Amino acid sequence: MAEKTVVLYPSLGVGHLNPMVQLAKAFLRRGVAVTIAVVDPPGKDPVLEAAVARLASASPSITVGLLPIKPAGTNDHCSNPALRMLDELRLASPVLREFLVSLPAVDAIVVDMFCIDALDVAAELAVPAYMFYASAAADLAIYLQVPDVCRAAPSSFKDMGDTALPFSGVPPVRALDMPDTMADRESDLCRRRVQQLARMPEARGILVNSFEWLESRAVKALRDGLCASGGCSTPQIYCIGPLVDGGVSGDSGERHACLEWLDRQPKQSVVFLCFGSGGVFSAAQLREMAGGLENSGHRFLWAVRSPRDEQSQSAEPDLEALLPHGFLQRTGDRGLVLKDWAPQAEVLRHEAVGAFVTHCGWNSALEAVMSGVPMICWPLYAEQRLNKVHLVEEMKIGVVVEGYEESFVKAEELQAKVRLVMESEEGRKLRERAAMARDMAADAVKEGGSSDVAFYAFFKHVEMDKLEERQIRPS
Ligand code: UDP
Repeated sequence: MAEKTVVLYPSLGVGHLNPMVQLAKAFLRRGVAVTIAVVDPPGKDPVLEAAVARLASASPSITVGLLPIKPAGTNDHCSNPALRMLDELRLASPVLREFLVSLPAVDAIVVDMFCIDALDVAAELAVPAYMFYASAAADLAIYLQVPDVCRAAPSSFKDMGDTALPFSGVPPVRALDMPDTMADRESDLCRRRVQQLARMPEARGILVNSFEWLESRAVKALRDGLCASGGCSTPQIYCIGPLVDGGVSGDSGERHACLEWLDRQPKQSVVFLCFGSGGVFSAAQLREMAGGLENSGHRFLWAVRSPRDEQSQSAEPDLEALLPHGFLQRTGDRGLVLKDWAPQAEVLRHEAVGAFVTHCGWNSALEAVMSGVPMICWPLYAEQRLNKVHLVEEMKIGVVVEGYEESFVKAEELQAKVRLVMESEEGRKLRERAAMARDMAADAVKEGGSSDVAFYAFFKHVEMDKLEERQIRPS
């Protein structure tokens, strides 16, 4: 694919831009030129602006094209952020079209799972379109089956409690573990998502941020066509991960103080707690977590955010006020609490870390896999409850904290799961399996590994599709 250009098209927000940047870097490493088309919604988004500026300075070989879109005007959907995002992506289609036409040559476009409208633009311009699925292959297997399963279900998932849903290729998934966006099939949001999921097979191939060994059952089900809804066949699947942020120290190049603290802790002795970009707890839950950690007797490193209702009042959490009286003093010799943010990827790679309490965001899960750290799963939002199923039931590299379904986990439960992972025979087995997953991930991404081979198979596919397009529509 020398001198070929692939356009990457993420949906809105930094959370969707980051995985595409990792994909762009992987393409570049293999000699494929990439342009990321970033939708610039109405109104300023300083976080997005900063991310684009960082990208431009850190990776100048990745071209970024900004696609400014006009305000949608007021409509009923605007109050729902997920629907607003889908509306804005729809409005971006003509701008994307203009952008693609302005480029000298486009060999392929790779869209993320929310950018389904872009498939129409690509078809109109005869540009082969593929999808990048930035989460687990098992989530993809489930999502491809959702249109059929949702239609055939006796009621909305939200009314089916712990009924196991009939998905192929994955362990039993309870209706209550389905993402909130799909909970109520009468809602506009669920209808839109199901329409989008039903169109995913229109992509000519799907790149997945995972690797074959980790998800062999789901990948086999996808390849065997067991996950196709509505009689469609599943596109070719390419597991090209794990692609994660390198996680090197911040812009200043200085090593974060928590890493120095970890240097002083024994090997595999520290429980690390960190809950993604959006993980926020109530003050009551934070106090309960503190109690669980204190009573577990284990060392810990914990990134704490202010509860949502307090975020507008102070820039950073007031730890003395939020955590139980005297907690910081009593645990000072074995615990470190960070405000808001931790350099997660680096922390996970540190040999002092023995367990990771995580919200099960897929990037966090992959970072833990690549570091061989077993997980204590505490899913919070989006597809994290599904990821919890895969990590615990299928991959066997995590345990779950009871109570997440009711959005409240008791101190005793956290304490018990910390002790299970850190002290018990079951914990030892989890650690062994996590170490095996780490080794298999390293094998997958090295030259000639399954993910590297999948990249080249994908490039070959793109070339064949391009050739086919030329035969159908000679320029
Ligand atoms: N992250 C981090 N420090 C934090 C919180 C998050 O470095 O304090 C990083 C984490 O390493 C991961 C990403 O942010 O790469 C979170 O992605 P994930 O898919 O796990 O969760 P999301 O934020 O999308 O819910």
